[in-house]
Amino acid sequence: MSDCELCREPGGLVVHRAAEWRVVRVADPDFPAFYRLIWNAHVAEFSDLDRAARQRCMEAVAAVEGALREALAPAKINLASLGNVVPHLHWHVIPRYADDAHFPAPVWAQAQRTTDEAVLQARRALVPQLAEAIARRFAAR
Ligand SMILES: [Zn+2]
Repeated sequence: MSDCELCREPGGLVVHRAAEWRVVRVADPDFPAFYRLIWNAHVAEFSDLDRAARQRCMEAVAAVEGALREALAPAKINLASLGNVVPHLHWHVIPRYADDAHFPAPVWAQAQRTTDEAVLQARRALVPQLAEAIARRFAAR
């Protein structure tokens, strides 16, 4: 489907690619460790996957979550599946901090503060090792 953005393009910086899904990092300056697991085929709803595929999907989401928790020790991980504008099931995996721009509201809500630039820089600096941590989780499976 050439008219589908997520068939044409990865939808972010690819950190891991599997047969059924890929993990990408979203380019968001306020959330440098914002990842998405995107199902490669057109599947609109989670319950459209069969039981085994649902299991594989959520194990992969849990692997990303685990890598983020280990490397960042955030206040919370947010998992969300919205997908109202693309026909690809995807899960957002977002580490949250008490000082992030939107906390405790969802990242899509109105910003409540500006995070200190030095803090953001320090979090951005962890991105390369995060990519390695995520890759290790999938290599170990
Ligand atoms: Zn598509």
